[in-house]
Amino acid sequence: MPVSRIDLADCGSPEKLVIEILKAESDLPIPVPIEKLAQKLGVTEIKALETDGFVGGLITNTTKSTGVILVNRDLRKGRRRFTIGHELAHLLIPTHKPGKDDRFLCSLKDLLALDPKVADQRIRWEAEANRFASLMLLPPAVFRKEANATKEPDLQHVVQLSHRYEVSKEVAGRAYVDYRHEPVALLLTHERRLLRSYRRKNDFPFITVDWGAPIPKGSLLLRKRHEFSVASEIEETDSAVWLDVSRGRRAPTLFEQVYPQQGGYALIMLSIEAAEEEEDEADDSRWSRRSPSSFVPH
Ligand SMILES: [Zn+2]
Repeated sequence: MPVSRIDLADCGSPEKLVIEILKAESDLPIPVPIEKLAQKLGVTEIKALETDGFVGGLITNTTKSTGVILVNRDLRKGRRRFTIGHELAHLLIPTHKPGKDDRFLCSLKDLLALDPKVADQRIRWEAEANRFASLMLLPPAVFRKEANATKEPDLQHVVQLSHRYEVSKEVAGRAYVDYRHEPVALLLTHERRLLRSYRRKNDFPFITVDWGAPIPKGSLLLRKRHEFSVASEIEETDSAVWLDVSRGRRAPTLFEQVYPQQGGYALIMLSIEAAEEEEDEADDSRWSRRSPSSFVPH
């Protein structure tokens, strides 16, 4: 059954919307035909966005029954598809209210918002729209399986997945970080500086290099020469180069793989092997007590 707006009437969250859409469109191919889907769901046209400084937009009406999606003409295919997904979310999520002239206008910063809990309601909408776009373009059931199809986490595989799903490497990498069994982190760099980094907060350690800061010299990206558009070997890197290794705790073994691209960009993938919990003798002795039997009564 092709999906219609009636199926989605009660869906307020990106997750619920995607579940209902995937239920109605059970044989959706990969790459997901996002433009066709948008048309089925009330988008009458997808046009070039003329307003400078924005990546995407949506012109709609008060009831949001239909909409025209605007996309910056300079975007490459993957980013264009993500932007369409993002604007479609603004149309479908009932709480998202357009601004002046019944319009949404979304900047690059909006397209990168991910935290659904920020205080600013507008940024929260942007994060929800990004969540919808990501779930829609990388349907979780299929993507989770494919992300875990290789024995080791592998950047070359992330790049292949980005081609197969027709999304940017950043979007594919972000989902890879979420779905891969082992804890991994993905870093985007430009001209030897960290642009953005993504890790799963519950099982990957804090990355100590700030966004915008120089890449540490000990990184595999800088300590060796690499070929363009080919993922390097996976090599061990001193974990203190990237991670917050607290004093007195054993650092995990850190592995690094890099993928240099044209234009000064590069991807880095970090993976860890958790340290075995060793019995700490000093700690044990602190807690052990002399057994009563060792007291010899006089
Ligand atoms: Zn937006």
